[in-house]
Amino acid sequence: MSESKMPLPSEVALIFELLTNAGHRADIVGGCTRDFLLGKVPSDYDITTDATPEEMLRIFSEYKTVPTGIQHGTVSVIIGRTQYEITTYRVDGDYKDHRHPDGVCFTRSLDEDLARRDFTMNAICYNRVDGFTDRFGGIKDIESGVIRAVGNPTQRFREDALRILRAIRFSATLGFSIEKNTASAARAQASLLKDVSAERTYTEWKKLILGISALDVLRDYNDIIAVFIPQLKNIRLPEKTRFYSEDFIIRICAIFALSVDDPSGAFLASMEQLKTDTKTKKLGAAILKNFEYCDTDNDVGLKKLLIDIGFEAAAGVMRLRRLLGRETDERVERLSYLAKNSVWRVCDLDIDGNDLIALGVGGAAIGKILQSLLVSVVKEECDNEKLSLLKLAKELKGV
Ligand code: ATP
Ligand code: MG
Repeated sequence: MSESKMPLPSEVALIFELLTNAGHRADIVGGCTRDFLLGKVPSDYDITTDATPEEMLRIFSEYKTVPTGIQHGTVSVIIGRTQYEITTYRVDGDYKDHRHPDGVCFTRSLDEDLARRDFTMNAICYNRVDGFTDRFGGIKDIESGVIRAVGNPTQRFREDALRILRAIRFSATLGFSIEKNTASAARAQASLLKDVSAERTYTEWKKLILGISALDVLRDYNDIIAVFIPQLKNIRLPEKTRFYSEDFIIRICAIFALSVDDPSGAFLASMEQLKTDTKTKKLGAAILKNFEYCDTDNDVGLKKLLIDIGFEAAAGVMRLRRLLGRETDERVERLSYLAKNSVWRVCDLDIDGNDLIALGVGGAAIGKILQSLLVSVVKEECDNEKLSLLKLAKELKGV
Protein backbone atom coordinates (compact mmCIF):
# COMPACT_ATOMS: atom_id res chain seq x y z
CA MET A 1 0.00 0.00 0.00
CA SER A 2 1.35 3.38 -0.94
CA GLU A 3 0.72 6.58 0.91
CA SER A 4 2.58 8.55 -1.70
CA LYS A 5 0.91 11.16 -3.79
CA MET A 6 -2.43 10.18 -5.10
CA PRO A 7 -2.90 10.68 -8.85
CA LEU A 8 -5.97 12.83 -9.25
CA PRO A 9 -8.05 13.29 -12.38
CA SER A 10 -7.47 16.73 -13.88
CA GLU A 11 -11.12 17.64 -13.17
CA VAL A 12 -10.62 16.99 -9.45
CA ALA A 13 -7.42 19.06 -9.52
CA LEU A 14 -9.41 21.85 -11.17
CA ILE A 15 -12.10 21.69 -8.48
CA PHE A 16 -9.41 21.86 -5.78
CA GLU A 17 -7.84 24.86 -7.52
CA LEU A 18 -11.10 26.80 -7.82
CA LEU A 19 -12.01 26.17 -4.18
CA THR A 20 -8.55 26.98 -2.78
CA ASN A 21 -8.25 30.13 -4.92
CA ALA A 22 -11.47 31.27 -3.25
CA GLY A 23 -9.91 30.68 0.18
CA HIS A 24 -11.42 27.27 0.93
CA ARG A 25 -10.06 23.82 1.62
CA ALA A 26 -11.09 20.78 -0.40
CA ASP A 27 -10.25 17.09 -0.05
CA ILE A 28 -11.32 13.89 -1.65
CA VAL A 29 -12.89 11.68 0.97
CA GLY A 30 -14.54 8.34 1.67
CA GLY A 31 -14.58 5.47 -0.79
CA CYS A 32 -12.14 7.00 -3.29
CA THR A 33 -9.40 7.64 -0.70
CA ARG A 34 -9.97 4.17 0.78
CA ASP A 35 -9.82 2.54 -2.64
CA PHE A 36 -6.61 4.38 -3.53
CA LEU A 37 -4.98 3.21 -0.29
CA LEU A 38 -6.07 -0.32 -1.22
CA GLY A 39 -4.27 0.02 -4.53
CA LYS A 40 -7.46 0.21 -6.56
CA VAL A 41 -8.51 2.83 -9.05
CA PRO A 42 -11.42 4.73 -7.46
CA SER A 43 -14.69 4.49 -9.36
CA ASP A 44 -15.76 8.01 -8.41
CA TYR A 45 -14.47 10.93 -6.37
CA ASP A 46 -16.40 12.54 -3.53
CA ILE A 47 -15.11 15.91 -2.44
CA THR A 48 -15.54 17.53 0.95
CA THR A 49 -15.05 21.25 1.55
CA ASP A 50 -15.58 24.04 4.07
CA ALA A 51 -17.35 26.11 1.41
CA THR A 52 -21.12 26.33 1.88
CA PRO A 53 -23.45 25.34 -0.98
CA GLU A 54 -24.10 29.03 -1.76
CA GLU A 55 -20.36 29.70 -1.88
CA MET A 56 -19.90 26.70 -4.17
CA LEU A 57 -22.64 27.84 -6.54
CA ARG A 58 -20.79 31.16 -6.86
CA ILE A 59 -17.37 29.56 -7.27
CA PHE A 60 -18.65 27.15 -9.94
CA SER A 61 -20.94 29.65 -11.63
CA GLU A 62 -19.21 29.07 -14.96
CA TYR A 63 -19.90 25.35 -14.80
CA LYS A 64 -23.09 23.39 -14.96
CA THR A 65 -24.20 22.56 -11.43
CA VAL A 66 -26.99 20.34 -10.16
CA PRO A 67 -28.32 21.53 -6.81
CA THR A 68 -30.39 18.38 -6.04
CA GLY A 69 -28.65 17.53 -2.78
CA ILE A 70 -28.27 21.12 -1.66
CA GLN A 71 -30.16 20.84 1.64
CA HIS A 72 -27.67 18.13 2.59
CA GLY A 73 -24.82 20.36 1.48
CA THR A 74 -24.10 18.61 -1.80
CA VAL A 75 -23.57 20.48 -5.04
CA SER A 76 -22.87 18.39 -8.13
CA VAL A 77 -20.58 20.04 -10.63
CA ILE A 78 -20.39 18.73 -14.16
CA ILE A 79 -16.96 19.01 -15.72
CA GLY A 80 -16.44 17.37 -19.07
CA ARG A 81 -18.76 14.43 -19.04
CA THR A 82 -18.41 13.63 -15.35
CA GLN A 83 -20.43 14.78 -12.40
CA TYR A 84 -18.52 15.44 -9.17
CA GLU A 85 -20.31 15.65 -5.83
CA ILE A 86 -18.91 18.33 -3.56
CA THR A 87 -20.30 18.40 -0.04
CA THR A 88 -19.95 21.00 2.67
CA TYR A 89 -18.46 19.72 5.98
CA ARG A 90 -21.42 18.73 8.06
CA VAL A 91 -22.54 17.18 11.28
CA ASP A 92 -25.69 15.12 11.22
CA GLY A 93 -28.49 16.18 13.56
CA ASP A 94 -30.22 13.74 15.88
CA TYR A 95 -31.37 10.62 14.13
CA LYS A 96 -35.00 9.71 14.02
CA ASP A 97 -36.11 6.12 13.24
CA HIS A 98 -32.54 4.80 13.30
CA ARG A 99 -32.03 5.89 9.76
CA HIS A 100 -32.65 9.52 8.92
CA PRO A 101 -31.01 12.45 10.68
CA ASP A 102 -33.53 15.15 11.70
CA GLY A 103 -31.44 17.64 9.85
CA VAL A 104 -27.87 18.43 8.98
CA CYS A 105 -25.76 21.32 10.22
CA PHE A 106 -22.91 22.66 8.20
CA THR A 107 -19.64 23.16 10.00
CA ARG A 108 -16.29 24.76 9.18
CA SER A 109 -14.52 21.90 10.96
CA LEU A 110 -13.06 19.11 8.85
CA ASP A 111 -12.61 16.98 11.97
CA GLU A 112 -16.33 17.11 12.70
CA ASP A 113 -17.09 16.07 9.15
CA LEU A 114 -14.72 13.11 9.40
CA ALA A 115 -16.18 12.10 12.76
CA ARG A 116 -19.70 11.65 11.33
CA ARG A 117 -18.46 9.02 8.85
CA ASP A 118 -19.13 5.36 9.51
CA PHE A 119 -15.81 3.51 9.57
CA THR A 120 -12.22 4.60 10.10
CA MET A 121 -11.30 3.43 6.58
CA ASN A 122 -14.00 5.76 5.18
CA ALA A 123 -12.97 8.74 7.31
CA ILE A 124 -9.68 9.55 5.59
CA CYS A 125 -9.35 12.50 3.25
CA TYR A 126 -6.63 13.72 0.93
CA ASN A 127 -5.47 16.76 -0.93
CA ARG A 128 -2.12 17.60 -2.48
CA VAL A 129 -1.22 20.31 0.02
CA ASP A 130 -2.14 18.57 3.29
CA GLY A 131 -1.62 14.98 2.16
CA PHE A 132 -3.73 12.38 3.97
CA THR A 133 -5.78 13.49 6.95
CA ASP A 134 -6.49 10.45 9.07
CA ARG A 135 -7.90 11.33 12.49
CA PHE A 136 -9.12 7.86 13.49
CA GLY A 137 -6.36 5.49 12.47
CA GLY A 138 -8.02 4.51 9.21
CA ILE A 139 -4.75 3.95 7.33
CA LYS A 140 -3.57 1.48 9.97
CA ASP A 141 -6.94 -0.28 9.88
CA ILE A 142 -6.78 -0.56 6.08
CA GLU A 143 -3.27 -2.00 6.41
CA SER A 144 -4.52 -4.62 8.86
CA GLY A 145 -7.76 -5.24 6.98
CA VAL A 146 -10.05 -4.11 9.77
CA ILE A 147 -13.47 -2.45 9.71
CA ARG A 148 -13.83 -0.29 12.82
CA ALA A 149 -16.62 2.16 13.64
CA VAL A 150 -15.65 5.79 14.14
CA GLY A 151 -16.50 6.49 17.77
CA ASN A 152 -18.83 4.33 19.86
CA PRO A 153 -20.10 1.52 17.62
CA THR A 154 -23.36 0.97 19.50
CA GLN A 155 -24.23 4.64 19.25
CA ARG A 156 -23.22 4.80 15.60
CA PHE A 157 -25.35 1.78 14.69
CA ARG A 158 -28.28 3.09 16.72
CA GLU A 159 -28.07 6.41 14.86
CA ASP A 160 -28.15 4.73 11.48
CA ALA A 161 -28.79 1.01 11.16
CA LEU A 162 -27.71 1.01 7.51
CA ARG A 163 -24.15 1.10 8.89
CA ILE A 164 -24.65 -2.46 10.19
CA LEU A 165 -25.33 -3.62 6.66
CA ARG A 166 -22.44 -1.58 5.31
CA ALA A 167 -20.12 -3.23 7.84
CA ILE A 168 -20.93 -6.77 6.70
CA ARG A 169 -21.05 -5.71 3.05
CA PHE A 170 -17.54 -4.17 3.24
CA SER A 171 -16.32 -7.26 5.08
CA ALA A 172 -17.56 -9.37 2.14
CA THR A 173 -16.30 -7.12 -0.64
CA LEU A 174 -12.92 -6.18 0.83
CA GLY A 175 -12.25 -9.43 2.69
CA PHE A 176 -11.70 -7.38 5.88
CA SER A 177 -12.61 -8.56 9.35
CA ILE A 178 -14.89 -6.50 11.57
CA GLU A 179 -13.19 -5.30 14.74
CA LYS A 180 -14.48 -7.12 17.83
CA ASN A 181 -16.41 -4.30 19.52
CA THR A 182 -17.80 -3.12 16.20
CA ALA A 183 -18.95 -6.65 15.36
CA SER A 184 -20.62 -7.27 18.70
CA ALA A 185 -22.40 -3.90 18.56
CA ALA A 186 -23.57 -4.75 15.04
CA ARG A 187 -25.02 -8.04 16.27
CA ALA A 188 -26.60 -6.46 19.33
CA GLN A 189 -28.29 -3.73 17.29
CA ALA A 190 -29.19 -5.89 14.29
CA SER A 191 -32.94 -5.80 15.03
CA LEU A 192 -32.86 -2.11 13.98
CA LEU A 193 -32.31 -3.24 10.39
CA LYS A 194 -36.10 -3.43 10.08
CA ASP A 195 -35.98 0.37 9.85
CA VAL A 196 -33.82 0.29 6.71
CA SER A 197 -35.81 0.44 3.48
CA ALA A 198 -36.15 -2.70 1.36
CA GLU A 199 -34.39 -0.98 -1.54
CA ARG A 200 -31.30 0.01 0.48
CA THR A 201 -31.18 -3.41 2.09
CA TYR A 202 -31.33 -5.15 -1.27
CA THR A 203 -28.58 -2.96 -2.75
CA GLU A 204 -26.22 -3.83 0.13
CA TRP A 205 -27.27 -7.51 0.06
CA LYS A 206 -26.43 -7.76 -3.61
CA LYS A 207 -22.98 -6.24 -3.12
CA LEU A 208 -22.39 -8.54 -0.15
CA ILE A 209 -23.27 -11.67 -2.14
CA LEU A 210 -20.90 -10.65 -4.93
CA GLY A 211 -18.03 -10.01 -2.51
CA ILE A 212 -14.86 -12.10 -2.52
CA SER A 213 -15.49 -13.15 1.08
CA ALA A 214 -19.26 -13.55 0.80
CA LEU A 215 -19.28 -17.16 2.02
CA ASP A 216 -17.36 -16.34 5.21
CA VAL A 217 -19.61 -13.37 5.95
CA LEU A 218 -22.76 -15.44 5.34
CA ARG A 219 -21.53 -18.01 7.85
CA ASP A 220 -20.12 -15.59 10.44
CA TYR A 221 -22.97 -13.07 10.40
CA ASN A 222 -25.94 -15.38 9.83
CA ASP A 223 -27.66 -13.81 12.86
CA ILE A 224 -27.57 -10.36 11.25
CA ILE A 225 -28.66 -11.65 7.84
CA ALA A 226 -31.60 -13.50 9.41
CA VAL A 227 -33.04 -10.14 10.52
CA PHE A 228 -33.69 -9.01 6.97
CA ILE A 229 -33.99 -12.46 5.37
CA PRO A 230 -35.75 -14.57 8.01
CA GLN A 231 -35.95 -17.44 5.52
CA LEU A 232 -32.16 -17.78 5.89
CA LYS A 233 -32.03 -18.25 9.63
CA ASN A 234 -29.95 -21.42 9.22
CA ILE A 235 -27.47 -20.83 6.45
CA ARG A 236 -25.75 -24.09 5.54
CA LEU A 237 -22.75 -23.76 3.28
CA PRO A 238 -20.45 -26.78 3.23
CA GLU A 239 -16.75 -25.95 3.56
CA LYS A 240 -16.10 -27.07 -0.01
CA THR A 241 -18.56 -24.52 -1.44
CA ARG A 242 -16.82 -22.01 -3.70
CA PHE A 243 -18.10 -19.03 -5.63
CA TYR A 244 -16.07 -18.35 -8.73
CA SER A 245 -17.35 -16.20 -11.56
CA GLU A 246 -21.00 -16.89 -10.73
CA ASP A 247 -23.32 -13.92 -10.86
CA PHE A 248 -25.75 -12.80 -8.16
CA ILE A 249 -28.64 -15.01 -9.22
CA ILE A 250 -26.62 -18.24 -9.21
CA ARG A 251 -24.98 -17.42 -5.87
CA ILE A 252 -28.28 -16.59 -4.21
CA CYS A 253 -29.91 -19.71 -5.65
CA ALA A 254 -27.04 -21.79 -4.27
CA ILE A 255 -27.49 -20.30 -0.79
CA PHE A 256 -31.20 -21.14 -0.80
CA ALA A 257 -30.68 -24.57 -2.39
CA LEU A 258 -28.19 -25.51 0.32
CA SER A 259 -29.88 -23.90 3.29
CA VAL A 260 -33.64 -24.34 3.12
CA ASP A 261 -36.13 -27.12 2.48
CA ASP A 262 -38.33 -25.23 0.05
CA PRO A 263 -35.75 -23.20 -1.87
CA SER A 264 -38.01 -21.63 -4.53
CA GLY A 265 -40.75 -20.69 -2.05
CA ALA A 266 -38.29 -19.23 0.44
CA PHE A 267 -36.39 -17.40 -2.31
CA LEU A 268 -39.58 -15.83 -3.65
CA ALA A 269 -40.80 -14.79 -0.19
CA SER A 270 -37.47 -13.12 0.63
CA MET A 271 -37.21 -11.37 -2.72
CA GLU A 272 -40.78 -10.14 -2.28
CA GLN A 273 -39.86 -8.59 1.08
CA LEU A 274 -36.78 -6.95 -0.42
CA LYS A 275 -38.87 -5.62 -3.34
CA THR A 276 -36.67 -7.24 -5.92
CA ASP A 277 -37.38 -6.71 -9.62
CA THR A 278 -39.71 -9.17 -11.33
CA LYS A 279 -37.05 -10.51 -13.70
CA THR A 280 -34.76 -11.59 -10.85
CA LYS A 281 -37.69 -13.15 -8.99
CA LYS A 282 -38.90 -15.11 -12.03
CA LEU A 283 -35.47 -16.30 -13.04
CA GLY A 284 -34.45 -17.41 -9.54
CA ALA A 285 -37.76 -19.20 -8.97
CA ALA A 286 -37.52 -21.03 -12.32
CA ILE A 287 -33.98 -22.16 -11.54
CA LEU A 288 -34.83 -23.31 -8.02
CA LYS A 289 -37.96 -25.16 -9.11
CA ASN A 290 -36.07 -27.14 -11.72
CA PHE A 291 -32.50 -27.71 -10.58
CA GLU A 292 -33.26 -30.82 -8.55
CA TYR A 293 -35.43 -32.90 -10.82
CA CYS A 294 -34.11 -32.51 -14.33
CA ASP A 295 -32.51 -35.07 -16.52
CA THR A 296 -29.27 -33.47 -17.61
CA ASP A 297 -27.11 -36.42 -18.57
CA ASN A 298 -28.76 -36.84 -21.96
CA ASP A 299 -29.53 -34.40 -24.76
CA VAL A 300 -33.27 -35.07 -24.75
CA GLY A 301 -33.38 -34.03 -21.08
CA LEU A 302 -31.44 -30.84 -21.77
CA LYS A 303 -33.71 -29.95 -24.68
CA LYS A 304 -36.79 -30.58 -22.56
CA LEU A 305 -35.38 -28.23 -19.96
CA LEU A 306 -34.95 -25.63 -22.72
CA ILE A 307 -38.54 -26.09 -23.85
CA ASP A 308 -39.89 -25.90 -20.31
CA ILE A 309 -38.08 -22.83 -18.98
CA GLY A 310 -36.14 -21.21 -21.83
CA PHE A 311 -32.42 -20.76 -22.31
CA GLU A 312 -31.61 -18.24 -19.57
CA ALA A 313 -33.22 -20.25 -16.77
CA ALA A 314 -31.96 -23.58 -18.18
CA ALA A 315 -28.41 -22.19 -18.27
CA GLY A 316 -28.96 -21.01 -14.69
CA VAL A 317 -30.02 -24.52 -13.67
CA MET A 318 -26.87 -25.96 -15.18
CA ARG A 319 -24.57 -23.37 -13.60
CA LEU A 320 -26.23 -23.88 -10.22
CA ARG A 321 -25.86 -27.65 -10.52
CA ARG A 322 -22.19 -27.21 -11.42
CA LEU A 323 -21.67 -24.97 -8.37
CA LEU A 324 -23.28 -27.67 -6.24
CA GLY A 325 -20.89 -30.25 -7.70
CA ARG A 326 -23.61 -32.12 -9.61
CA GLU A 327 -22.60 -31.21 -13.13
CA THR A 328 -19.50 -31.21 -15.30
CA ASP A 329 -18.32 -28.23 -17.34
CA GLU A 330 -18.89 -30.35 -20.41
CA ARG A 331 -22.66 -30.75 -19.76
CA VAL A 332 -22.98 -27.03 -19.01
CA GLU A 333 -21.40 -26.28 -22.37
CA ARG A 334 -23.53 -28.94 -24.04
CA LEU A 335 -26.67 -27.03 -23.08
CA SER A 336 -25.38 -23.89 -24.79
CA TYR A 337 -24.44 -25.93 -27.81
CA LEU A 338 -27.90 -27.50 -28.04
CA ALA A 339 -29.60 -24.16 -27.50
CA LYS A 340 -27.79 -22.85 -30.58
CA ASN A 341 -27.78 -25.93 -32.76
CA SER A 342 -30.89 -27.97 -32.11
CA VAL A 343 -34.63 -27.78 -32.47
CA TRP A 344 -36.26 -26.72 -29.20
CA ARG A 345 -38.50 -23.79 -30.09
CA VAL A 346 -41.74 -23.90 -32.07
CA CYS A 347 -40.17 -21.53 -34.58
CA ASP A 348 -37.43 -24.12 -35.26
CA LEU A 349 -40.04 -26.62 -36.56
CA ASP A 350 -40.38 -27.25 -40.27
CA ILE A 351 -44.09 -26.54 -39.96
CA ASP A 352 -46.05 -23.55 -38.70
CA GLY A 353 -49.54 -22.42 -37.69
CA ASN A 354 -50.59 -21.83 -41.30
CA ASP A 355 -49.87 -25.46 -42.19
CA LEU A 356 -52.15 -26.52 -39.35
CA ILE A 357 -54.89 -24.07 -40.38
CA ALA A 358 -54.73 -25.67 -43.83
CA LEU A 359 -55.40 -28.99 -42.09
CA GLY A 360 -58.52 -27.47 -40.51
CA VAL A 361 -57.01 -26.89 -37.06
CA GLY A 362 -58.10 -23.65 -35.36
CA GLY A 363 -57.85 -21.59 -32.19
CA ALA A 364 -55.98 -22.80 -29.14
CA ALA A 365 -55.44 -26.23 -30.70
CA ILE A 366 -52.81 -24.73 -33.04
CA GLY A 367 -50.44 -23.89 -30.22
CA LYS A 368 -51.09 -27.18 -28.43
CA ILE A 369 -50.38 -29.28 -31.51
CA LEU A 370 -47.22 -27.32 -32.34
CA GLN A 371 -46.02 -27.91 -28.80
CA SER A 372 -46.74 -31.65 -29.05
CA LEU A 373 -44.90 -31.79 -32.36
CA LEU A 374 -41.94 -30.06 -30.78
CA VAL A 375 -41.82 -32.55 -27.93
CA SER A 376 -41.95 -35.43 -30.43
CA VAL A 377 -39.06 -33.96 -32.40
CA VAL A 378 -37.03 -33.40 -29.23
CA LYS A 379 -37.70 -36.98 -28.11
CA GLU A 380 -36.55 -38.07 -31.57
CA GLU A 381 -39.91 -39.76 -32.19
CA CYS A 382 -40.45 -37.68 -35.33
CA ASP A 383 -38.07 -36.00 -37.80
CA ASN A 384 -38.15 -32.24 -38.14
CA GLU A 385 -39.30 -32.59 -41.69
CA LYS A 386 -42.54 -31.20 -43.09
CA LEU A 387 -44.20 -34.39 -44.35
CA SER A 388 -43.55 -36.32 -41.15
CA LEU A 389 -44.77 -33.41 -39.09
CA LEU A 390 -47.96 -33.04 -41.16
CA LYS A 391 -48.66 -36.75 -40.79
CA LEU A 392 -48.22 -36.59 -37.02
CA ALA A 393 -50.28 -33.39 -36.85
CA LYS A 394 -53.17 -35.15 -38.59
CA GLU A 395 -52.99 -37.93 -36.03
CA LEU A 396 -52.90 -35.44 -33.15
CA LYS A 397 -55.80 -33.51 -34.62
CA GLY A 398 -57.88 -36.66 -34.70
CA VAL A 399 -57.32 -37.27 -30.99
P1 ATP B 1 -18.71 2.43 -2.23
O1 ATP B 1 -17.37 1.97 -2.70
O2 ATP B 1 -19.69 1.34 -2.14
O3 ATP B 1 -19.24 3.64 -2.96
P2 ATP B 1 -18.40 4.30 -0.10
O4 ATP B 1 -17.73 4.19 1.26
O5 ATP B 1 -17.81 5.27 -1.05
O6 ATP B 1 -18.44 2.85 -0.71
P3 ATP B 1 -20.78 5.85 -0.33
O7 ATP B 1 -22.20 5.48 -0.10
O8 ATP B 1 -20.37 6.29 -1.69
O9 ATP B 1 -19.90 4.61 0.13
O10 ATP B 1 -20.45 6.96 0.74
C1 ATP B 1 -19.33 7.84 0.66
C2 ATP B 1 -18.82 8.12 2.06
O11 ATP B 1 -19.84 8.72 2.85
C3 ATP B 1 -18.38 6.91 2.86
O12 ATP B 1 -17.08 6.50 2.53
C4 ATP B 1 -18.50 7.41 4.27
O13 ATP B 1 -17.43 8.27 4.60
C5 ATP B 1 -19.77 8.25 4.20
N1 ATP B 1 -20.98 7.47 4.48
C6 ATP B 1 -21.78 6.83 3.59
N2 ATP B 1 -22.81 6.24 4.19
C7 ATP B 1 -22.69 6.52 5.50
C8 ATP B 1 -23.48 6.22 6.66
N3 ATP B 1 -24.59 5.49 6.56
N4 ATP B 1 -23.04 6.69 7.84
C9 ATP B 1 -21.91 7.42 7.94
N5 ATP B 1 -21.14 7.74 6.90
C10 ATP B 1 -21.51 7.30 5.69
MG1 MG C 1 -18.69 5.76 -3.01
